[in-house]
Amino acid sequence: MGKSNSKLINQLFDFKGAPLLAVGVLALFYLEKRYALRKRKDSLRERLKTNSMVSSTAIVALRLSLIPALVKAAFLAGERNLGLLRVLRLPSPFNHIISFLLLDYGSYRWHKLNHRMPFLWRFHQVHHADLDLDVTTALRFHFGEVLISVLYRGGWALLAGVTPRQVLVYELIFEGATNFHHTNLRLPRHIDRGLARLIVTPRMHGIHHSVVRDETDSNYSVILNIWDRLHQSLRLDIPQDQINTGVPYIRHHANASELMVMPLQPKAEWKFPDGQVPLRL
Ligand SMILES: [Zn+2]
Repeated sequence: MGKSNSKLINQLFDFKGAPLLAVGVLALFYLEKRYALRKRKDSLRERLKTNSMVSSTAIVALRLSLIPALVKAAFLAGERNLGLLRVLRLPSPFNHIISFLLLDYGSYRWHKLNHRMPFLWRFHQVHHADLDLDVTTALRFHFGEVLISVLYRGGWALLAGVTPRQVLVYELIFEGATNFHHTNLRLPRHIDRGLARLIVTPRMHGIHHSVVRDETDSNYSVILNIWDRLHQSLRLDIPQDQINTGVPYIRHHANASELMVMPLQPKAEWKFPDGQVPLRL
Protein backbone atom coordinates (compact mmCIF):
# COMPACT_ATOMS: atom_id res chain seq x y z
CA MET A 1 0.00 0.00 0.00
CA GLY A 2 1.63 3.23 -1.12
CA LYS A 3 1.76 6.20 1.20
CA SER A 4 -0.39 8.34 -1.09
CA ASN A 5 -3.10 5.65 -1.23
CA SER A 6 -3.25 5.36 2.57
CA LYS A 7 -3.42 9.13 2.84
CA LEU A 8 -6.30 9.27 0.38
CA ILE A 9 -8.21 6.59 2.33
CA ASN A 10 -7.57 8.48 5.57
CA GLN A 11 -8.70 11.80 4.20
CA LEU A 12 -11.67 10.68 2.18
CA PHE A 13 -12.92 7.58 3.92
CA ASP A 14 -11.87 7.73 7.57
CA PHE A 15 -12.24 11.44 8.27
CA LYS A 16 -15.05 12.42 5.95
CA GLY A 17 -17.08 9.55 4.49
CA ALA A 18 -17.24 7.13 7.42
CA PRO A 19 -18.36 9.71 10.04
CA LEU A 20 -20.95 11.02 7.58
CA LEU A 21 -22.22 7.48 6.95
CA ALA A 22 -22.43 6.86 10.71
CA VAL A 23 -24.55 9.98 11.22
CA GLY A 24 -26.73 8.87 8.29
CA VAL A 25 -27.26 5.43 9.87
CA LEU A 26 -28.38 7.03 13.15
CA ALA A 27 -30.75 9.38 11.32
CA LEU A 28 -32.24 6.50 9.29
CA PHE A 29 -32.56 4.37 12.44
CA TYR A 30 -34.55 7.14 14.12
CA LEU A 31 -36.70 7.82 11.05
CA GLU A 32 -37.57 4.18 10.32
CA LYS A 33 -38.70 3.71 13.94
CA ARG A 34 -41.02 6.70 13.58
CA TYR A 35 -42.32 6.01 10.09
CA ALA A 36 -42.23 2.23 9.66
CA LEU A 37 -42.87 0.69 6.24
CA ARG A 38 -43.28 -3.02 7.08
CA LYS A 39 -44.45 -4.60 10.35
CA ARG A 40 -41.64 -6.16 12.36
CA LYS A 41 -41.68 -9.91 13.05
CA ASP A 42 -38.59 -10.30 15.16
CA SER A 43 -37.44 -8.55 18.33
CA LEU A 44 -35.51 -5.37 17.51
CA ARG A 45 -33.35 -5.82 20.58
CA GLU A 46 -32.26 -9.33 19.52
CA ARG A 47 -31.68 -8.20 15.95
CA LEU A 48 -29.64 -5.25 17.11
CA LYS A 49 -27.41 -7.62 19.05
CA THR A 50 -27.02 -10.10 16.18
CA ASN A 51 -26.73 -7.57 13.38
CA SER A 52 -24.20 -5.37 15.15
CA MET A 53 -21.99 -8.39 15.87
CA VAL A 54 -22.11 -9.66 12.28
CA SER A 55 -21.77 -6.12 10.87
CA SER A 56 -18.68 -5.39 12.92
CA THR A 57 -16.85 -8.30 11.24
CA ALA A 58 -17.96 -6.95 7.84
CA ILE A 59 -16.82 -3.42 8.69
CA VAL A 60 -13.34 -4.63 9.68
CA ALA A 61 -13.08 -6.64 6.43
CA LEU A 62 -14.32 -3.65 4.45
CA ARG A 63 -11.91 -1.15 5.94
CA LEU A 64 -8.84 -3.37 6.15
CA SER A 65 -9.27 -5.40 3.01
CA LEU A 66 -11.85 -4.25 0.44
CA ILE A 67 -11.21 -0.50 0.57
CA PRO A 68 -7.38 -0.76 0.30
CA ALA A 69 -7.75 -3.39 -2.45
CA LEU A 70 -10.09 -1.23 -4.53
CA VAL A 71 -7.77 1.76 -4.21
CA LYS A 72 -4.74 -0.39 -4.99
CA ALA A 73 -6.43 -1.85 -8.08
CA ALA A 74 -7.28 1.64 -9.34
CA PHE A 75 -3.75 2.79 -8.57
CA LEU A 76 -2.32 -0.13 -10.57
CA ALA A 77 -4.59 0.69 -13.49
CA GLY A 78 -3.11 4.19 -13.52
CA GLU A 79 0.48 3.04 -13.08
CA ARG A 80 0.31 0.46 -15.88
CA ASN A 81 -2.13 2.42 -18.02
CA LEU A 82 -4.69 -0.37 -17.90
CA GLY A 83 -8.44 -0.42 -18.08
CA LEU A 84 -11.15 0.99 -20.30
CA LEU A 85 -11.14 4.57 -19.06
CA ARG A 86 -7.34 4.83 -19.30
CA VAL A 87 -7.59 3.79 -22.93
CA LEU A 88 -10.56 6.04 -23.75
CA ARG A 89 -9.06 9.18 -22.13
CA LEU A 90 -12.42 10.96 -21.98
CA PRO A 91 -12.66 14.58 -20.87
CA SER A 92 -13.22 15.02 -17.15
CA PRO A 93 -17.02 15.17 -16.66
CA PHE A 94 -17.61 12.20 -19.01
CA ASN A 95 -14.81 10.29 -17.40
CA HIS A 96 -16.44 10.68 -13.96
CA ILE A 97 -19.89 9.75 -15.22
CA ILE A 98 -18.68 6.65 -17.06
CA SER A 99 -16.52 5.58 -14.11
CA PHE A 100 -19.56 5.80 -11.84
CA LEU A 101 -21.72 3.83 -14.29
CA LEU A 102 -19.07 1.16 -14.80
CA LEU A 103 -18.57 0.69 -11.06
CA ASP A 104 -22.30 0.60 -10.40
CA TYR A 105 -22.83 -1.98 -13.13
CA GLY A 106 -20.07 -4.03 -11.50
CA SER A 107 -22.00 -3.91 -8.22
CA TYR A 108 -25.12 -5.18 -9.99
CA ARG A 109 -23.21 -8.07 -11.57
CA TRP A 110 -21.52 -8.98 -8.30
CA HIS A 111 -24.79 -8.97 -6.37
CA LYS A 112 -26.51 -11.11 -9.00
CA LEU A 113 -23.60 -13.57 -8.95
CA ASN A 114 -24.05 -13.89 -5.19
CA HIS A 115 -27.54 -15.19 -5.86
CA ARG A 116 -26.66 -17.37 -8.82
CA MET A 117 -23.52 -19.18 -7.62
CA PRO A 118 -24.23 -21.69 -4.83
CA PHE A 119 -20.81 -21.09 -3.24
CA LEU A 120 -21.36 -17.34 -3.03
CA TRP A 121 -24.94 -17.78 -1.83
CA ARG A 122 -23.62 -19.66 1.22
CA PHE A 123 -22.22 -16.31 2.37
CA HIS A 124 -24.85 -13.96 0.95
CA GLN A 125 -27.71 -15.88 2.64
CA VAL A 126 -26.39 -14.58 5.98
CA HIS A 127 -27.55 -11.14 4.86
CA HIS A 128 -30.89 -12.46 3.56
CA ALA A 129 -31.70 -14.63 6.59
CA ASP A 130 -32.73 -11.54 8.58
CA LEU A 131 -36.45 -11.87 9.37
CA ASP A 132 -36.92 -8.11 9.16
CA LEU A 133 -35.34 -5.55 6.96
CA ASP A 134 -34.07 -2.23 8.27
CA VAL A 135 -30.92 -0.13 8.43
CA THR A 136 -29.30 -2.67 10.78
CA THR A 137 -29.50 -5.24 7.95
CA ALA A 138 -27.50 -2.96 5.63
CA LEU A 139 -24.09 -4.05 6.90
CA ARG A 140 -25.06 -7.49 8.15
CA PHE A 141 -22.76 -9.39 5.80
CA HIS A 142 -20.59 -12.37 6.52
CA PHE A 143 -17.00 -11.12 6.47
CA GLY A 144 -16.25 -13.93 4.02
CA GLU A 145 -18.52 -12.28 1.44
CA VAL A 146 -16.62 -9.01 1.82
CA LEU A 147 -13.26 -10.78 1.49
CA ILE A 148 -14.32 -12.72 -1.62
CA SER A 149 -15.71 -9.52 -3.16
CA VAL A 150 -12.17 -8.12 -3.14
CA LEU A 151 -11.28 -10.32 -6.10
CA TYR A 152 -14.30 -9.49 -8.20
CA ARG A 153 -14.75 -5.85 -7.35
CA GLY A 154 -10.99 -5.14 -7.36
CA GLY A 155 -10.67 -6.83 -10.75
CA TRP A 156 -13.64 -4.85 -12.06
CA ALA A 157 -12.12 -1.53 -10.90
CA LEU A 158 -8.86 -2.47 -12.63
CA LEU A 159 -10.60 -3.37 -15.90
CA ALA A 160 -12.69 -0.22 -15.74
CA GLY A 161 -9.51 1.83 -15.32
CA VAL A 162 -10.99 4.14 -12.67
CA THR A 163 -8.84 6.35 -10.43
CA PRO A 164 -8.34 5.70 -6.70
CA ARG A 165 -10.42 8.79 -5.88
CA GLN A 166 -13.24 7.71 -8.20
CA VAL A 167 -13.40 4.23 -6.67
CA LEU A 168 -13.38 5.64 -3.14
CA VAL A 169 -16.08 8.21 -3.81
CA TYR A 170 -18.15 5.50 -5.52
CA GLU A 171 -17.69 3.20 -2.53
CA LEU A 172 -18.94 5.88 -0.14
CA ILE A 173 -22.04 6.50 -2.25
CA PHE A 174 -22.49 2.71 -2.52
CA GLU A 175 -22.46 2.40 1.29
CA GLY A 176 -24.85 5.35 1.71
CA ALA A 177 -27.23 3.90 -0.90
CA THR A 178 -27.07 0.47 0.76
CA ASN A 179 -27.98 1.99 4.13
CA PHE A 180 -30.82 3.92 2.55
CA HIS A 181 -32.46 1.12 0.56
CA HIS A 182 -32.37 -1.35 3.44
CA THR A 183 -34.27 0.99 5.77
CA ASN A 184 -37.78 0.22 6.88
CA LEU A 185 -38.71 3.79 6.11
CA ARG A 186 -42.16 4.66 4.83
CA LEU A 187 -41.40 7.42 2.36
CA PRO A 188 -44.47 9.18 0.93
CA ARG A 189 -45.55 7.12 -2.08
CA HIS A 190 -44.98 9.86 -4.64
CA ILE A 191 -41.43 10.41 -3.36
CA ASP A 192 -40.67 6.68 -3.43
CA ARG A 193 -42.13 6.43 -6.92
CA GLY A 194 -40.17 9.47 -8.11
CA LEU A 195 -36.91 8.14 -6.68
CA ALA A 196 -37.60 4.66 -8.09
CA ARG A 197 -37.34 6.05 -11.59
CA LEU A 198 -33.62 6.36 -11.00
CA ILE A 199 -32.39 4.75 -7.80
CA VAL A 200 -33.10 1.77 -5.55
CA THR A 201 -35.68 2.67 -2.89
CA PRO A 202 -36.63 0.91 0.38
CA ARG A 203 -39.82 -0.46 -1.24
CA MET A 204 -37.87 -1.76 -4.23
CA HIS A 205 -35.20 -3.49 -2.15
CA GLY A 206 -37.86 -4.85 0.23
CA ILE A 207 -39.07 -7.01 -2.68
CA HIS A 208 -35.54 -8.41 -3.14
CA HIS A 209 -35.65 -9.68 0.47
CA SER A 210 -38.92 -11.59 -0.01
CA VAL A 211 -39.11 -15.36 0.60
CA VAL A 212 -40.81 -15.77 -2.79
CA ARG A 213 -38.15 -16.93 -5.24
CA ASP A 214 -39.19 -14.76 -8.20
CA GLU A 215 -39.10 -11.70 -5.99
CA THR A 216 -35.68 -12.44 -4.46
CA ASP A 217 -34.44 -12.95 -8.01
CA SER A 218 -35.20 -9.32 -8.83
CA ASN A 219 -33.95 -5.85 -7.92
CA TYR A 220 -30.22 -6.57 -7.66
CA SER A 221 -29.13 -2.99 -8.32
CA VAL A 222 -27.34 -1.04 -5.59
CA ILE A 223 -27.46 2.65 -6.50
CA LEU A 224 -29.01 3.19 -9.95
CA ASN A 225 -31.78 0.80 -10.93
CA ILE A 226 -31.15 1.13 -14.66
CA TRP A 227 -29.30 -2.22 -14.49
CA ASP A 228 -32.44 -4.07 -13.39
CA ARG A 229 -34.38 -2.27 -16.09
CA LEU A 230 -31.87 -3.30 -18.76
CA HIS A 231 -31.79 -6.91 -17.58
CA GLN A 232 -35.55 -7.04 -17.00
CA SER A 233 -35.12 -7.92 -13.36
CA LEU A 234 -36.95 -4.86 -12.01
CA ARG A 235 -40.05 -5.40 -9.85
CA LEU A 236 -42.08 -2.68 -8.22
CA ASP A 237 -45.46 -4.40 -8.07
CA ILE A 238 -45.49 -6.11 -4.65
CA PRO A 239 -47.21 -4.28 -1.78
CA GLN A 240 -44.92 -4.13 1.24
CA ASP A 241 -47.51 -5.52 3.67
CA GLN A 242 -47.58 -8.71 1.59
CA ILE A 243 -43.85 -9.34 1.79
CA ASN A 244 -42.60 -12.12 4.01
CA THR A 245 -38.97 -11.11 4.60
CA GLY A 246 -36.07 -13.57 4.79
CA VAL A 247 -35.21 -16.95 3.31
CA PRO A 248 -37.88 -19.69 3.52
CA TYR A 249 -35.64 -22.36 5.08
CA ILE A 250 -34.68 -20.18 8.10
CA ARG A 251 -37.76 -19.02 9.97
CA HIS A 252 -36.21 -18.46 13.39
CA HIS A 253 -33.90 -15.73 14.66
CA ALA A 254 -30.45 -17.07 13.78
CA ASN A 255 -27.90 -15.66 16.22
CA ALA A 256 -24.43 -14.39 15.33
CA SER A 257 -22.60 -17.67 15.93
CA GLU A 258 -25.16 -19.55 13.85
CA LEU A 259 -24.72 -17.00 11.06
CA MET A 260 -20.94 -17.18 11.19
CA VAL A 261 -20.91 -20.94 10.46
CA MET A 262 -23.79 -20.81 7.97
CA PRO A 263 -21.47 -20.76 4.90
CA LEU A 264 -20.08 -24.16 5.95
CA GLN A 265 -23.41 -25.83 5.33
CA PRO A 266 -24.47 -26.94 1.85
CA LYS A 267 -27.04 -24.94 -0.03
CA ALA A 268 -30.53 -25.50 1.36
CA GLU A 269 -33.59 -25.97 -0.82
CA TRP A 270 -35.77 -22.90 -1.35
CA LYS A 271 -38.62 -24.25 0.80
CA PHE A 272 -40.18 -23.57 4.18
CA PRO A 273 -39.18 -26.01 6.96
CA ASP A 274 -42.50 -27.83 6.39
CA GLY A 275 -41.54 -28.48 2.76
CA GLN A 276 -43.88 -25.92 1.17
CA VAL A 277 -42.56 -23.69 -1.60
CA PRO A 278 -43.32 -20.01 -0.97
CA LEU A 279 -45.64 -18.71 -3.67
CA ARG A 280 -47.40 -15.46 -4.37
CA LEU A 281 -51.08 -16.30 -4.74
ZN1 LIG B 1 -29.23 -10.11 -2.30
